[in-house]
Amino acid sequence: MPDAHRRLDDAHAEWHDAFDAYFDPHRFRRSFNSLLASFQSTIDTIARRKRSIPGGEETLKQWETTVKGDRLYKWAVKARNLVVHEADLSLHSLAWVEHAALDHSRYGGKLEAAPESSADDLLSAYLLNKPESIRSGVVKVSRKWVDNSLPDKELLEVASHLYGRLAVLVAAFHSDDEVLCSDLGLPERDCNKNRDSSRPKCMAWGGQAPISRTVDLSTRHELAMEIMSFKRDPSVSQQDLEQRYGRFFKLDGDPIKESLQQMRRASLYLTVDSEAMPWMLLYKGSNLVDTFQISAVSKPTLLAMFSGMAERVRATGADGFLFTAEAWTTWHPGVKRPVHQHKGTFYDVKPDRGEVLLVVAATSDGRRVSLQRHFARDEAGWPVLGRVVSTTRLGPEWRVVVEALNGLPLNSAFRRD
Ligand SMILES: [Zn+2]
Ligand SMILES: [Zn+2]
Repeated sequence: MPDAHRRLDDAHAEWHDAFDAYFDPHRFRRSFNSLLASFQSTIDTIARRKRSIPGGEETLKQWETTVKGDRLYKWAVKARNLVVHEADLSLHSLAWVEHAALDHSRYGGKLEAAPESSADDLLSAYLLNKPESIRSGVVKVSRKWVDNSLPDKELLEVASHLYGRLAVLVAAFHSDDEVLCSDLGLPERDCNKNRDSSRPKCMAWGGQAPISRTVDLSTRHELAMEIMSFKRDPSVSQQDLEQRYGRFFKLDGDPIKESLQQMRRASLYLTVDSEAMPWMLLYKGSNLVDTFQISAVSKPTLLAMFSGMAERVRATGADGFLFTAEAWTTWHPGVKRPVHQHKGTFYDVKPDRGEVLLVVAATSDGRRVSLQRHFARDEAGWPVLGRVVSTTRLGPEWRVVVEALNGLPLNSAFRRD
């Protein structure tokens, strides 16, 4: 049934439209209304043709019994009738801000947000009556759309759920040789590739709701934080790895106890590859649950980087982390000065700054460790490593990440009372 399949794909496209328009109230409302209509027309297309397909009536009836007790499905049918025939949904927008000033002090709270306010309006509402002295750093504005007749569910999450229901129905009406529907000419979407459920990957996002946007207060520009999931190059075998780095690839373990091993690992990367990229390992107990890379260039972005890491800690429910980076630091006298050129690249080496390998670990039971290893570069640009200095005190920039280890899920900020 290609027509039904195409309408389901329309709903997928409209889900993306609504997601992209999350901070643009009118565009969001339009996209969400179209999405409800596409869901309904997927079902209508199948219902109209059920008799022309052997066993079609029975299949549809069976599916209808599965959605009978589904309150999200019932809400969607009503909502669609409302927007098509009568009026708009009674949308409600919840918003709150987290603000990190350049001195690492933090402010924030819930915002009374009129549904029609844009991201810029929300930011202005927050800054109203704030003293000039704290108008620096980055502000993260988060938002969540709900309908007043279904106040406990975020709308795109509802849409993802409905999509899953309808995908099952559409699949039930496929003939055996039609399962892939490759001749429909539907647009290729990355989120459809290698998926292992009835929903595309983009919709498996429940834990990340609500949606937020980070803005640099000095420019009012949105900051795009890049978090890259870190995967091993599959073409490099375990044997190749061990030849290059030795037996350093067992990453599971208690993050605090692993920190020294991680420093050895990072030192090795630095000497073998001449660089050690910033990466974050997240743990639940002794199990490694997430690995990613995160980059920051300017100072406001650095603040956003810590917020980004905290968010990822919350999303994964991690209770420990192990962070590694190569960083600039205040220069320690008595250590050999770095040369200015390395591999043909000229470094802007400030006389008062040095390079350091940094490993930071913390767990939700309150243990913390920060390891630093200064290094200089010789005339050929190769790193010459100093000794490892250890402390249990972390800088103030880590507070937001450490708090996230013990934190409530972000969604709890939205519970209605
Ligand atoms: Zn199909
Ligand atoms: Zn998608």
